[in-house]
Amino acid sequence: MAAAESDREVPSALCTEFLNFSVKDTASKWLQVTDLYKEVYQHLARYVPKIYCLGPNLNPQSEDLLAQMLLQAPLEWYLCGEDPSTGLAKLEQNNQPSQLCGHVFKVGEPTYSCRECAADPTCVLCMQCFLGSVHKEHRYRMTTSGGGGFCDCGDTEAWKKGPYCQKHEPNISDSCQEDPLAYLSTDMIARCYNVFSIVLKYAVDMLTWDKEDELPPGLEPPDRSDTYYCMLFNDEVHTYEQVIYTLQKAVNCTQKEAVSFATTVDRDGRKSVRFGDFAFCEQAKSVIVRNTSRQSKPLRVQVMHSSVVAHQCFALKALHWLGHVIGYSDALRRILCQVGLERGPEGENSSLVDTLMLCDSKMWKGARNVYHQLFMSSLLMDLKYKKLFAIQFAKNYRRLQTDFMEDDHERVVSVTSLSVQLFTVPTMNYERLQSDYVKDDHDREFSVTDLSVQMFTVPSLARMLITEENLMTTIIRTFVDHLRHRDLQGRFQFERYTAQQAFKFRRVQSLIGDLKYVLISRPTEWSDQLREKFLEGLDTFLELLKCMQGMDPVVRQVGQHIEMEPEWEAAFTLQMKLTHIISMMQEWCATDERVLIEAYKKCLTALTHCHSGFTDGEQPITLSICGHSVDTIRYCVSQEKVSIHLPVSRLLAGLHVLLSKIEVAYRFPEQLPLSELSPPMLIEHPLRCLVLCAQVHAGMWRRNGFSLVNQIYYYHNVKCRVEMFDKDLIMLQAGASMMDPNHFLMIVLSRFELYHIFSSADCRKRYNRENTNKDLVQQNNTLIEEMLHLIMMVVGERFEAGIGQVEGCDEIKREIIHQLCIRPMAHSELVKALPENENKETGMERVIDCVASFKKPGVTGRGLYELRPECAKQFNLYFHHYSRADQSKAEEAQRKLKRQNGEDTALPPPVLPPFCPLFASLVNILQCDVLLGMLGAVLQWAVEPSAGHWSESMLQRVLHLIGMALLEEQQQLENSSEDSDVCFNFTLKMSCPGEAPSNTASVLALLENLQNAPHLEVHKDMIRWILKTVASIKTMRERTVSTCTVTASGSHSQEETVCDKDKAERKRKAEMARLRREKIMAQMSEMQRHFINENKELFQQSLEELDASTSSSLEHSPTSSDAALVCVGPRRSRPGEKRQVVTCILCQEEQEIRADGKAMVLAAFVQRSTVMSKNRKRPPHDPERYDPLFMHPDLSFGTHTGSCGHIMHSHCWQRYFEAVQAKEQRRQQRLRVHTSYDVGNGEFLCPLCECLSNTVIPLLPRTKGSSSCEQPSLGQWLITSGQQIKAMHSAHRKLQPISADTVEETVEEECPAPEGFRVDYIPMNPYSSTIKEMLTTFGTATYKVGLKVHPNEQDPRVPIMCWGSCAYTIQSIERLLVDEKKPLFGSLPCRQDDCLSSLARFGSACWTAACQPTVQGHFIRLLAALIPDPQVKATPCILDIDMLHLLVSVVLSYGSVHYQDSSGLSVDAVQLHLFHLITVAHMVQILLTSGPEEVTMEQESGEAEREEEEAICCLYNTLRTHVGSSLPEVGSGWHLWRCVKTGILPYLRGAALFFHHLNGVPTPPELHALCPGQWEVLCGYLSLPSNLLQLFHSQRELLEPLLQGWCTHPGVQQTLQGGGVLVSYPRESNSLIDLPDDYSALINQASSFTCPKSGGDKSRAPTLCLVCGSMLCSQSYCCQTELEGEDVGACIAHTFACGAGVGIFLRVRESQVLFLAGKTKGCFYAPPYLDDYGETDQGLRRGNPLHLCRERYRKIQKLWRQHSITEEIGHAQEANQTLVGIDWQHL
Ligand SMILES: [Zn+2]
Ligand SMILES: [Zn+2]
Ligand SMILES: [Zn+2]
Ligand SMILES: [Zn+2]
Ligand SMILES: [Zn+2]
Ligand SMILES: [Zn+2]
Ligand SMILES: [Zn+2]
Repeated sequence: MAAAESDREVPSALCTEFLNFSVKDTASKWLQVTDLYKEVYQHLARYVPKIYCLGPNLNPQSEDLLAQMLLQAPLEWYLCGEDPSTGLAKLEQNNQPSQLCGHVFKVGEPTYSCRECAADPTCVLCMQCFLGSVHKEHRYRMTTSGGGGFCDCGDTEAWKKGPYCQKHEPNISDSCQEDPLAYLSTDMIARCYNVFSIVLKYAVDMLTWDKEDELPPGLEPPDRSDTYYCMLFNDEVHTYEQVIYTLQKAVNCTQKEAVSFATTVDRDGRKSVRFGDFAFCEQAKSVIVRNTSRQSKPLRVQVMHSSVVAHQCFALKALHWLGHVIGYSDALRRILCQVGLERGPEGENSSLVDTLMLCDSKMWKGARNVYHQLFMSSLLMDLKYKKLFAIQFAKNYRRLQTDFMEDDHERVVSVTSLSVQLFTVPTMNYERLQSDYVKDDHDREFSVTDLSVQMFTVPSLARMLITEENLMTTIIRTFVDHLRHRDLQGRFQFERYTAQQAFKFRRVQSLIGDLKYVLISRPTEWSDQLREKFLEGLDTFLELLKCMQGMDPVVRQVGQHIEMEPEWEAAFTLQMKLTHIISMMQEWCATDERVLIEAYKKCLTALTHCHSGFTDGEQPITLSICGHSVDTIRYCVSQEKVSIHLPVSRLLAGLHVLLSKIEVAYRFPEQLPLSELSPPMLIEHPLRCLVLCAQVHAGMWRRNGFSLVNQIYYYHNVKCRVEMFDKDLIMLQAGASMMDPNHFLMIVLSRFELYHIFSSADCRKRYNRENTNKDLVQQNNTLIEEMLHLIMMVVGERFEAGIGQVEGCDEIKREIIHQLCIRPMAHSELVKALPENENKETGMERVIDCVASFKKPGVTGRGLYELRPECAKQFNLYFHHYSRADQSKAEEAQRKLKRQNGEDTALPPPVLPPFCPLFASLVNILQCDVLLGMLGAVLQWAVEPSAGHWSESMLQRVLHLIGMALLEEQQQLENSSEDSDVCFNFTLKMSCPGEAPSNTASVLALLENLQNAPHLEVHKDMIRWILKTVASIKTMRERTVSTCTVTASGSHSQEETVCDKDKAERKRKAEMARLRREKIMAQMSEMQRHFINENKELFQQSLEELDASTSSSLEHSPTSSDAALVCVGPRRSRPGEKRQVVTCILCQEEQEIRADGKAMVLAAFVQRSTVMSKNRKRPPHDPERYDPLFMHPDLSFGTHTGSCGHIMHSHCWQRYFEAVQAKEQRRQQRLRVHTSYDVGNGEFLCPLCECLSNTVIPLLPRTKGSSSCEQPSLGQWLITSGQQIKAMHSAHRKLQPISADTVEETVEEECPAPEGFRVDYIPMNPYSSTIKEMLTTFGTATYKVGLKVHPNEQDPRVPIMCWGSCAYTIQSIERLLVDEKKPLFGSLPCRQDDCLSSLARFGSACWTAACQPTVQGHFIRLLAALIPDPQVKATPCILDIDMLHLLVSVVLSYGSVHYQDSSGLSVDAVQLHLFHLITVAHMVQILLTSGPEEVTMEQESGEAEREEEEAICCLYNTLRTHVGSSLPEVGSGWHLWRCVKTGILPYLRGAALFFHHLNGVPTPPELHALCPGQWEVLCGYLSLPSNLLQLFHSQRELLEPLLQGWCTHPGVQQTLQGGGVLVSYPRESNSLIDLPDDYSALINQASSFTCPKSGGDKSRAPTLCLVCGSMLCSQSYCCQTELEGEDVGACIAHTFACGAGVGIFLRVRESQVLFLAGKTKGCFYAPPYLDDYGETDQGLRRGNPLHLCRERYRKIQKLWRQHSITEEIGHAQEANQTLVGIDWQHL
């Protein structure tokens, strides 16, 4: 490291140089010289290595400062020709800010696109622009940026309307196209030009420099040192862990350092990992290379000379500087553009911009980012240069893409990602570019002329632009070139694809993205050239599709199952990626008739070409049925090759529909090659594909494995079907429309391999002939079903414009209707079920409201769309996009609906729209002989119930087809004009008997026959519907014959009236039924009431039993309402003695709760809590040394105990817990899986409700009050207790080992104990051994969890923790009741009541399990906080004590003192005195912290209030005399009294809860409701005067000295003067942080959040703590910290400080709430943000605007306030095992 040592001196040497350096002189010198280039380079050569890269650790601040002073400042001076501070300001004055916003997006920043106005979805706005735009009122989409793009505000071509936000609105007056350079002097322009070309050249030289030890000429440093860097580069091959591991080995660093290196390499693309002499660095390099070369190619490492690295650092800085300087002036920006695009000495494509672009793939990430940003702020911000740059870009396109394929970085940081910015601008289309360019002549005067001259003088450029502008051809060619694997026929072959190829294949797909950008805006006008180039592109595209036609063919596997699943995904990926391109090509064609005709011809030629290779060797055969015959070929799908990929046929199908739609076919038939069409050829391949699907359904292809099943799935899937299944169907329709229907059906029969069944003369007797093989019969049945379905689809699918006479939105409406016929659906479900176009739009919003009504969600669930009832009649059971599962669900739902409406359950086909003329002949399929033959056959088979030669669904389909035919006839009759030209006559055909020779029954006859067949009950309604329709058609026909005019409407209306009558009748019946039901109900409830009244006693009794068995809840209901209830003190009400009997949930045995009985326990969960904390800044306590005796009023850390309320025997629970433990041990050994609970930590799930628990609380009987005891006054008691304490002090001292200083005190006083108080008396423990054991169990658990320490039942803090937990739990429940606006009593669930009672009683008993003197010592210290005790040291001042905690602890610890007193002193009296004392102390506390008076209106107060006000003023003034000036003067007693009353209320309510549960006193009914007058009732219940001041004034002499003691405690002064945390009362309930209404505000906030540890870096997973509002850098190496010896992520670490182990976070990028508990537990929870459709968007995938749902947020807040987060996690993990496996620790 010698080199490093010597280098340290350099900065000081530089300092002297720096002092002598004059910016002005340097600039002046430059202004004189002739070769500025050389001069500047010399300057850089001299200074750059002295500023940058002087040691192993870079110091960016001082480097940048020096660079600014020594390098940039002279450049700026030269540029301006004067002091830059004035020069740049002048430039800025004339600056015309770009109309474009151009804001470059940071990673994760929100972007907005208007779904109504954006030209395409890549047009986005930044948040600022969006908020100032018209689009915020439109339907918009919000996404988060991946980084790199920029805001399109101001780009008129990006927006159909509202292109400007308020800020970027151009000023009309000066919008005239002035040349920005006009404001600049010629000198200035020249200087600018010089500086920019030198600096840009320098930057390009250095960034593209690839020598490690040399510098470009002119930059060689004057003196060279032996200092090198070992530079590590990133790739996408090695993982983080590999890199970290290797670095630790290679450069001998700690893991932390290695993590930091790896993070930087990942972010910037490179990082120096070692600095030193050459050998030193070379050694590290070889270790890294050796360690990473085993599995793959090694990590890239270079040993670079420090001066090279230094110049590269400054080169980046220089690019930043350029970006900064051009920000001052649009003129400068334009000059920089000129400089950048100026052609270099090497000729074409040698400008600096070209050089950068072409070296793109060789640069490291950091460098690319910097120069891309410069491009964006310069070239792309200048509308003129954007075009020129685009040309350059297009020229380099092929090479860039090729480099990109070879490169191993992500596209985001590649220059090719800029294509989205360029190709989506419509002007990039050639001729507009060209014409703009020719017309653009307004700045000839300067060097741009050179540029244009250069462009015009390259003859190839013009031609290139024409071909390249089209770009289609280039892109498609590049694309095809990269897919080299072909089979013999030249089709793509993706078999044996390696991982590397797959990686490249993904890259290639980005080309399709570029093609999409080119096609995304459709032309409105076509020039001849555009037509030519588009068709040329289409030709290339057809070449591509030809390579796909017939790819991945499959052959049916017979005998053995296939051995290896063939590759199929690559082909489908390609198909999916191309789907939108194919659709867009068709849309382009649709905009121009000539293009459409040409495209149709080309496509047909391509298809013919494809077919020529297919048909050889296929034998011609002749088929004939019913006297019709047709010639075709012999081909069996089940025996020969068949492929799902037919893109050429499908494109032709699409174009055919367009011909029909825009009626070209009728207007220019002569231009179309219709005569060349061979319909059988057209349908052949699509039909094979459809037959393949049918055969797969029929189970014939089982041995071909899952790959085929998957292909069939995707073929029908919404992502692919538009350009696969749908188009195949269309092709069949197109072909069939041009054929004789009988011929068509025969070919279909033949391809389905069913021809033999229907062709034989006695086909109606199938059951006689073919009963050999049951499987085969079954198979054929399925095939027949599928074929009938296909026929329905060919005739019935008319909802695409061009096939049927429909509007554009009819198709989507129908899709939605059929989805909603299955069930009501959420918006996102519907979106998923509908095909999206290239803009990710489904078109649903336009139509949804006409077909569905929206139902809002509640607090859970989501909003749903329900079908409007009137739309149900459009339901088609055989809708072509239904899967079989959908179909049966829809059928069930629709039948149910019909039953509910009291209708028959027939589901006849819906009325269909008429066909377009080109497809009109399709209807004839319905009445052709072959079809009727088939229908008859199936009906005939159905006569035989059990033969198995037909199926229900086969018959159902036949009936449906008949229905379709009848409706067709009916429609035609209704729509026909007078001259009855309806030649469609199905009714006639169906009444004719079958063909000779068998002369069988007609279809109609068969139906009439089947109508009453008992085995066809299900179909009865449908058959009846058919017969009815036949009848009505017959009437119509008859009427047409007699009276031509009113036929249709007449019969219709008649039918309607019949129908109406029916309906009315049904309605009347339904109404009567309802009335009858109601009457019965009323009778029943009357009877019930009567019964209860009769048997009142009986009911009472059983209710009581019920109560007793679960809890002591009867205590709540006041038993004696006449006497006022009091819960504390000598006057307290005595509840009747009652046995408490409970049932064990494990053994179901009953058990009475008794002190000497078997212990019964409640499952409980103890947790640390900060929910009520008023001071989240307080650091967690040191668990070993913390003294928890006094709780600070900031309640920063508490211990909460909750319970599910389930009761067990202690021994039953122990057995259960041991079993769980044993099971867990076995499970962990075997599977190493985690569970939702940690047995090692004492956790288990409640055996009944599976609620997470970690201990049990023993149930104890109520303590018996001592009724006939001595009731001393306060004064007496103070004396007695003083004596008692003294006695205890001396007794305790005797126990302690004698030391020097204690001896002294012992001598001092030796006091006698008061009468009846025996300090050495050891009371008998009243509890049975099992109860004692459970007392220890719960005490230890509370201690362990509350303090986070190892269990130690001997620790003196055990009882303190238990009292604390009791107090804290009471406080949290009291707050919860206030927050939920519930009354104090009677609204808690049983389990909480049980839990509180057990806690209070446990608290009063826990001293029995601890060491006596310890507990007594606690009591003495607690009391000393109120009554000064000279022997107790370090008592906190009253401002630092939470009074409820004090009350609970002191009352509960008193038991240990009282048991030694046999004088008959009443516990009740002591409790009351303690309570009163603490209440007074609390009043003092409140008054001391009350704060200045608010300005309020003078209140009129009554007599009683005036008394209170005077009293309180008096008290306050007493306090002021003690405390002095730190207490402000307060004039109004009213204010003070109000402060005290509101401040003390939570304490009083807490005390009431405490004493109620401790003493078991029933509660007054007034406190069971939220009625006025609560204060008085509460005070009465607590045995307090309602004027609390009386407490003080009645005992003034006794209390004055105490008061003085409290106030003069030094801590009071200190705290009041701001020396501590001052808590004011009442403490407000804590809430989760406020969230903004609009979710994007959060995204924006998160996007500007940087990782606190890695110096201004963007955080990948910014996560918001909902408790305190901190933003954290989650799930990232950079922010991991060590917690208790383990690495944890930022969230977990934060949880420990902020939430005592429990955390609630919002993962902003994911829109997901995260619950964490402990280090290893967590779950995700639905966020409180909903879109307009009432749905959350976890993962932010849909991009609908999200708004805060306050109800849901309140629900989360409630979970938190109830301490239920951990429980929620437990339930979530039990329900979803995958949550257990997530690495929560590193979040
Ligand atoms: Zn913007
Ligand atoms: Zn804007
Ligand atoms: Zn808009
Ligand atoms: Zn039991
Ligand atoms: Zn339970
Ligand atoms: Zn927090
Ligand atoms: Zn971080």
